[in-house]
Amino acid sequence: MSRTTAEWIGKSDDAMPPPRVRLRIFQRFDGKCQECGLPISGKRWICDHRIALINGGENRENNLGPIHETCDKTKTAADVAEKSKVYKKAAKNRGISLRKGPKIRSGGFQPAAAQRQASRPVDKWRGYSS
Ligand SMILES: [Zn+2]
Repeated sequence: MSRTTAEWIGKSDDAMPPPRVRLRIFQRFDGKCQECGLPISGKRWICDHRIALINGGENRENNLGPIHETCDKTKTAADVAEKSKVYKKAAKNRGISLRKGPKIRSGGFQPAAAQRQASRPVDKWRGYSS
């Protein structure tokens, strides 16, 4: 019977996995980027939280996967969009309106005749002549 290895769990959300854990993560995913699926060999890579911390993911080995540093930018943008979507859905399901104020209504357009009337220069002396 082989000895089981304890899963690495970060002491805080900022804690970085040590090299031995990074190696385990790399091997677990066969050295493939979990974002684009291509081999990582020779390129810079990072341990990415598969479920982002901002979306409730945990800083632990089972939630980490290798991704190219260049793929991280795409994933981070997607994570932020996901967070926004989840937040809006959660608020809506609880009857919370995220609208900041009343809907702004347009004053509408004046009929063409009224516009012509308004733009006509006013003779301020008219009406005062004797
Ligand atoms: Zn990639």
